[in-house]
Amino acid sequence: MTNLQTDIQSDIQAAIDAGYKIELQADGVADVISAAGTGYSVNLRIPTCTCADMQFRGGRYEANGHRICKHLAWVAQTSICPHCGAGMVLTQTADGFRYFECVQCGNAKEARIVKSEREARKEAHRAGRDRIWQRTRDPSWS
Ligand SMILES: [Zn+2]
Ligand SMILES: [Zn+2]
Repeated sequence: MTNLQTDIQSDIQAAIDAGYKIELQADGVADVISAAGTGYSVNLRIPTCTCADMQFRGGRYEANGHRICKHLAWVAQTSICPHCGAGMVLTQTADGFRYFECVQCGNAKEARIVKSEREARKEAHRAGRDRIWQRTRDPSWS
């Protein structure tokens, strides 16, 4: 398994330089399209990706206890701008302060705020799934 921080492949700038396009559908949900035109559906909330690395090897990177692929690592470095709906990309100042910056309107958002919002959505997603499980187990509900 590869450490995210030391691997250039997992860096969003390397993806952009390599000609990848990341089309955000919602925060954490995106289509990643390679320069050759191959597309992958990425969902950071589950997390899942349709690429071979995730489907057959379960992801070559590890982040917060999850195995992920490079596409998931890239989408984690993007977000939707709440002001204009364009993509925001994770940026870092020289002294290590991490923030998301909108490519269109320049709106900036602190990385730790984006992270806590994602955690809250993940929690809501899990709670919804648990409710469905409970219903299928409950014999009176059929
Ligand atoms: Zn992938
Ligand atoms: Zn914006």
